[in-house]
Formats: sequence, C-alpha cells, structure tokens
Amino acid sequence: MYKSYRFRIYPNEDQETLIVKHIGSCRFVWNHFLDMRNKRYAETGKGMTYKEMALLLPALKKENKWLNEVNSQSIQQVVMHLDSAFHGFFKKIGKYPVFKKKANGGSFAVPQNFKVEDNHLIILKFKTPIRMFVHRKIEGHMRSLTVSRTSSGKYYVSILADTGIQTPEPKEIEAESSVGMDVGITEFFTTSDGLQIGNPWNLKKSEKKLAKAQKQLSRKTKGSKNRNKAIIRVATIQEHIANQRMDFHNKISDILTRQYDTIITEDLNVSGMIRNHHIAKSIADAGWSSFFSMLKTKALSRGKNMIEIGRFDPSSKMCSECGHIYALKLSERTWTCPECNAFHDRELNAAINIKRFGLIKTGVPTDSGELTPVDTVTSALSLLEKEGIRQVKWLKQEAHVL
Ligand SMILES: [Zn+2]
Repeated sequence: MYKSYRFRIYPNEDQETLIVKHIGSCRFVWNHFLDMRNKRYAETGKGMTYKEMALLLPALKKENKWLNEVNSQSIQQVVMHLDSAFHGFFKKIGKYPVFKKKANGGSFAVPQNFKVEDNHLIILKFKTPIRMFVHRKIEGHMRSLTVSRTSSGKYYVSILADTGIQTPEPKEIEAESSVGMDVGITEFFTTSDGLQIGNPWNLKKSEKKLAKAQKQLSRKTKGSKNRNKAIIRVATIQEHIANQRMDFHNKISDILTRQYDTIITEDLNVSGMIRNHHIAKSIADAGWSSFFSMLKTKALSRGKNMIEIGRFDPSSKMCSECGHIYALKLSERTWTCPECNAFHDRELNAAINIKRFGLIKTGVPTDSGELTPVDTVTSALSLLEKEGIRQVKWLKQEAHVL
C-alpha cells in the first residue's frame, strides 16, 4: 500500500537556483515532446510511444547542453508523465495534455537516488542537503519524490512511500453500515442518515481577502516593485485557500471512511457536471474531484467500499417513501409527495434514494435495515464536532422535533 507525505523544504540560494533550473528544464522537455507529438499526429495520424521519445532524449541534450545540469532521471520522468497523460486521455480519464506555461511555480520528480536524514532532504544531483521540516514520521520504503515551488515562492516535497502493508479485504456490503451521499450546490453534501455538511465558511472569509488583494493588484503599474509584491500576496492567499480546503476534505473523508463500510454516491464524473454552467462555479469552488479522489484512496486503504450509481438514476425526483416520480423543479428545496403526502427535504430524499439504488445495484436487500443505527450518526456527529467542523445539521432529528 502506498502512502504519500508532503513536507515544506527550505533551500538555500544555490539550491533554489538549481530547483528552478530543474523545473525549467522539465517544462522545456515536456513542451518539446508535446509539440513534436502534435505535429507528428497532424502529419501522419500517429502518436509517439514512450520508447520513441526516450530514444530522442540524448540528441536533445546534445543540442541543449544546459539540460545536462539537471538530474537526468527527472527529465526521463517528464517523458514518462507525458506518455501516461496521453494514455489517460485515450482512456477518457484525463484531459488532452497542454503546454506548460512559464510561471512562478512548477515541479519536478526524482524517482530514485534520494534520502531523508535528520530533517534534511538529500538528492544526489544536489551537492548539499536541503533543509526540511519533517512533521511526521515517514512509514515504509520511499519510492519517489516530487519537489515543487508554489507561485508565492514556497518549496515543498511530496514523498510516496510503500508501507509494505497489503490493502485490507473489502468489508461486506450491508444496508446498516452503508451511507448514501448527495453532493450539493448550496450544501457540501447530505447523507442518507440526514447529516448535512455545509460548505466551509472560513473559506468565504479568505475569498473576500483574495478579492480585495486581486483588486489592489489590478491597480498597480506593470513592472513596478509594488506590483510584484501584490502578485505574491494574491498567490499566498490562493495557497492558503487551497490548504484550508485540503484540510477540510481530509477531515471529512477521514470521518466518513471510519464511520461507514460502504459509501454510495452518484457517478462522480465531475467534468460532466462542470459542463452544466449553472453549477459549474460552485462545483469548481468546492473542489469535488480532489475530495472524491481523497475519499476513494482512504476507503481503499481501510477496506471500505465505494459504489457509484448511474448519473441518470432519478435520485432527486423520486419519492423515497413510495417511489412516485415527481416533476421536481431546481428551485424547490422541499416538497410534498402528491401520492403519499410524505414531506421531503430535497437533498435528504436524494441521498436516501442514492443509498437504495446503490444497494440494489450490488444485490443487497433494501427492505430491511434501511436505517443506520442512531449510534453511528451520533458518533459521526461527535467526530465532526471534535474536528471543529461547524457547518453540520442533522435533518432527521430536526424533522422529529417539528
Ligand atoms: Zn410518495
């Protein structure tokens, strides 16, 4: 099983120069082969294999001597990444590879010949150890690393380690320990147990700050010292927002994969959802795709199941009590079923249906044990509280009180 770690590193001036050189060289190689491949395809209708590109590398290095100043394996990795980007595109799991623009940030990979010692990162090509803040123990055998520079000029290293532990066998799928999740626009998501997690509002605060900083930046004259300062300020706030969001996603996915054995969601084809421009912005803001991939990784490592139901299953407009299909409008947050008079919260009803569709899909009986034991819900609630996640409502409980 692989585990990934991310640490901040503090290169000195020489090391920084060499890191920037690595990033620039990798960008150059990526763009070079992407351009070559695009042209080849336009002329012959054929792409290029990894092997073909790798065989052209020595000649490219001869023409561009400065490429020899950086770790040659990092450059080889670029070719490998480009190749897998194309594979991903043809398998429809990724976008068509694009040219990398010259930017403040960037990254490069080091597949071997490195170690971590005494709060220092040692990479063979770098003559001296780079200072590093190891805030948690790296478990297992380190397989590869990526050094990155953010737009505001901070440096990080991501390390992939093989823990040597086998992925646990997946748990049996049962109605009792399953949960349906409806992802929302106004809310982050609602579960079939009636837990509703709102979008993190500390992000709103940071977003206001960001808007202000961007406005200030727009007023600075190009090329001025103050403009550069303003650019860094914008980038710093953007990074802060990304960190806040990652922290939120981490906590939520952790709690979900601890509390439930099976998590059922709609088809998570987020790019398909983004095509609907009404909800595009909030989906992009909520960072759904990163949340789902985090959720999947955690579920897998804990032997939990993730089930996706079809995107066209009528999860929102079907009454979860009697099965009546209702002409639900996008503006209706609550509705009453004309057939059985059940009163529904839009998201909760959808989440209950998602759970049911998911269980049916896997052949688990849904007529008994429909409800999750209250204990599971209350312990999920207390975990959320402990993690300081405040935007939580328990819809079913409120319904009972009413
Ligand atoms: Zn009904």
